Amino acid sequence: STDSLGVAPILTKLQKDCATPLPVLRHVADAMADDMRAGLAVDGGSDLKMILSYVDTLPTGNEKGLFYALDLGGTNFRVLRVQLGGKEERVVATEFEQVSIPPELMFATSEELFDFIASALGKFAQKEGGNFELQQGRTREIGFTFSFPVKQTSIRTGILIKWTKGFAVSGTAGKDVVACLNEAMERRGMDMQVSALVNDTVGTLAGARYWDDDAMVAVILGTGTNACYVERVDAIPKLTKRMSKSPITIVNTEWGAFSNGLPLTEFDREMDAESINPGEQIFEKTISGMYLGEIVRRVLVKMAKVGGLFGGSYVPEKLVTPFVLRTPDICAMQQDTSRDLEAVESVLYDVAGVKSDLSARKTVVEICDTIAKRGGRLAGAGIVGILQKMEEDSKGLIFGKRTVVAMDGGLYEHYPQYRGYLQEAVTELLGSEISKNVVIEHSKDGSGIGAALLAAANSKYE
Ligand code: ADP
Repeated sequence: STDSLGVAPILTKLQKDCATPLPVLRHVADAMADDMRAGLAVDGGSDLKMILSYVDTLPTGNEKGLFYALDLGGTNFRVLRVQLGGKEERVVATEFEQVSIPPELMFATSEELFDFIASALGKFAQKEGGNFELQQGRTREIGFTFSFPVKQTSIRTGILIKWTKGFAVSGTAGKDVVACLNEAMERRGMDMQVSALVNDTVGTLAGARYWDDDAMVAVILGTGTNACYVERVDAIPKLTKRMSKSPITIVNTEWGAFSNGLPLTEFDREMDAESINPGEQIFEKTISGMYLGEIVRRVLVKMAKVGGLFGGSYVPEKLVTPFVLRTPDICAMQQDTSRDLEAVESVLYDVAGVKSDLSARKTVVEICDTIAKRGGRLAGAGIVGILQKMEEDSKGLIFGKRTVVAMDGGLYEHYPQYRGYLQEAVTELLGSEISKNVVIEHSKDGSGIGAALLAAANSKYE
């Protein structure tokens, strides 16, 4: 390929455009903190919505009794029960089931969908036995994790703004999804009721707090990304009607919409322009699992076309399809420690139908690393932004003592390099002393049990 530019200049420019040296990280952290403040001041004041979760009671560990959780966020939903035994016994028993939603129900009426969910929940509740016991005179209380856009109006009410993720159910938009579920359960004569409507990030924070009093922030890094944290009610100017006496409340940042000062490339801009939501969710498009593989794919297409990556100007036909290269693929390629990069070879062959030489494979790994590094480091800067905002309002209460950031989501869980870059950025920004106090840790299935814990912490019997 004598007439091609070669891959080197393209790789060099990519690395330059994706660079996240300390001043860039610092700018991102500062801008995140500023945007948080602006979003807390007034609705619509910032890219960050800073949604009030109405969760102002987190689990303490003292919760007792039988509670249920229902997690609806995609084509599967999970139901779970947990028997809580208080401070000493903690989680006495837990059981869960996953149910897939029949495709036709995604286009059904609201009643049909919620009847199906209620029925599955009812069947699951009927299998309750052995270690599970409902307290006398109580109804079964449910923590409902509902991962679609809702306008929450209390701990147990939320109006559906619109269905997303392929759901086109008629008659739910504009209605309270808790009432929809409660009514479906009533129609079947079930002895169950929703006590808490929960965002998945908030569920993760509750799950982490149950085990660790220092849990203050939760971050999800999966297909998408979001973060929530414990805020002081005094620090939320837009909160005019106080719902309870609690001095704190959980704020859902919706930080995926952050966009200030991010280092972006031509590949990011083109991906955004061709997306279903151009100009939106820019932070999410730079750091989350849905997009990292796609950014790498776009770089590969350019390198094939003008850099001779796969010989001449040969662009493998399969590689031109958006989203064929997925984040688990780039993750798998980065784990390859073999001398010949055999795993890289087979991923490229399986996904793109292309035969690669060793030099091309090395370049591909460099590209994956560049994109994962930028994503991980920017996620780390975002976390520091949240901590910084909390610290500024409560001197010493965050950095002066142990503070836990609970992490969940497939990207964080399965991508070790990404996780490493995230931690590295946090340490660089905070310095070695303060970063000893900040514990970033995976909270395994926090959100499942978390919702049940929030039903307990917000029980109508307390
Ligand atoms: P979701 O965010 O869709 O609710 P998860 O938290 O399980 O669910 O995250 C799934 C996402 O995690 C996938 O879309 C993918 O981007 C990412 N992911 C899953 N497995 C891996 C992996 N092995 N390496 C890197 N990323 C992964």
